[in-house]
Amino acid sequence: MFFFTKNTILSAGQCLEKMHYDHFFPHLKKDYLGKNTFYDEKKEVKKLILSFLGKGLWIKGETVEERVEESKKAVLKKRKAIFNPVFVFDDILIEIDALIWSEKGYDIYDIKSASSLKTIFFDALALQLFVLNRLDIPTEKVILCTIHQNYTFHQKLEPEKLIEKREVRESVLERIPKITEKIETAKKALENKTMSFEKEIGKRCYFPECGYLEDCWKKKQVPYPSIFNLSRMDKVSKFELYSQGIKNLKDIPEEIVQKLEKKQKIQIEADRTGKPFIDSEKIKEFLDTITYPLYFLDFETVQHPVPRFEGVKPNKHIPFQFSLHYLESETSKLKHFEFLADEKKDPRSFVAEKIVEWINPNHCILSYNSGFEKAVIRKLAEFCPQKSETLLQIAQNIKDLMQPFKNFSYYQKEMNGRYSIKSVLSALIPEESYSKLNIKNGGEATFVYKSLEYIQDEKIKMEKKKDLLDYCRLDTYAMVLILNYLKKI
Ligand code: SF4
Repeated sequence: MFFFTKNTILSAGQCLEKMHYDHFFPHLKKDYLGKNTFYDEKKEVKKLILSFLGKGLWIKGETVEERVEESKKAVLKKRKAIFNPVFVFDDILIEIDALIWSEKGYDIYDIKSASSLKTIFFDALALQLFVLNRLDIPTEKVILCTIHQNYTFHQKLEPEKLIEKREVRESVLERIPKITEKIETAKKALENKTMSFEKEIGKRCYFPECGYLEDCWKKKQVPYPSIFNLSRMDKVSKFELYSQGIKNLKDIPEEIVQKLEKKQKIQIEADRTGKPFIDSEKIKEFLDTITYPLYFLDFETVQHPVPRFEGVKPNKHIPFQFSLHYLESETSKLKHFEFLADEKKDPRSFVAEKIVEWINPNHCILSYNSGFEKAVIRKLAEFCPQKSETLLQIAQNIKDLMQPFKNFSYYQKEMNGRYSIKSVLSALIPEESYSKLNIKNGGEATFVYKSLEYIQDEKIKMEKKKDLLDYCRLDTYAMVLILNYLKKI
């Protein structure tokens, strides 16, 4: 059975090609986690928050058709609370978080794990209201629930403080005409078998950023790297240059280059000549700040929209893992320590304990983008007052290996205007890139850690833990390699 889903219809307003991707090729989306993952954060948050609305009927049918049937019956019987109902009108499929019967109709509840409001929330609700109206299901309030970012968890979850409820019916009603247009556009486009897309890319690709950009731009033969890889230039200006035919860095006319910042000029020069830019003096200055014994430290953190640990606010970073490489002296053998917390417990005290056990606070510590590691350690110090002195001293001794790359003291063409540890490693030492790992970025690591508590099979769980350790280990090993590289310059 063919349905028009929320994503398909809402994408139609931004780009028909995006809608086409959403409908037929959702797996090509950046950060697509697949349907067979162990954990769906949005669903878990919704389930948890819905459970605070009281008892009700959960629509659980195996197929869409079964769920539609169950939902229809529940509404006909005027069930007081219906969770996760599904409705179809004219092939448009909507899923609602909850319908709660009020005096003359249902209040629609929409649960978001975000703290801020987004236009797309109102558009999605307008689509729900549109379908319910067409099905003659009486409705009253439209209640948008978001997470209150100032909420702090103390001893137990207090849903009335955590959830911010807003009655938004008026704003949602205003959006219905726009949604009706989008439905028409989506239907016409998808029913037309010979749908043609715009050949050129445009600002629509970035506002908001399209998840299919990589695949789509490749098909449209946008070069990579391109003008879009120029650092420190806003996207609107890049599109202006691109639309003038300036697609590559080498195409930028000299009079424009002259007006650019020093770092941009370095990037363009490296791109044109293929030679790395090296400011030996600045690199030496940085290297002179590093002393031995030397640690290389990297944390992985997890954020919960619904906080679960004492004193934590929604979506705050909680460290659950770290990797630590250690060099007693410049020539001594590299040692490695690693810690991965039990997924069922508050990891903070365990992480703090291992940090103070393994790191001598008087010695030098390197991390990449050190502001993050420092902030994590300072938070640990607040949480563990008995270890705070040592932890704060450790934080103070952290140096940032990102500095020479962020400052463009070293730049080479293959960095493509970026200075993240992954970009720098793959440019400097391509054989050690992250591409061979099962986990390739911090977002995936967080997701895998969160999913651990839902995995029943011990063997799979062990494999996932190994993936986490491999990923974090490479973060600190990459620092060892990058530091060596800088020293040899
Ligand atoms: S990258 Fe741009 S053109 Fe391609 S689907 Fe996305 S918004 Fe449309």
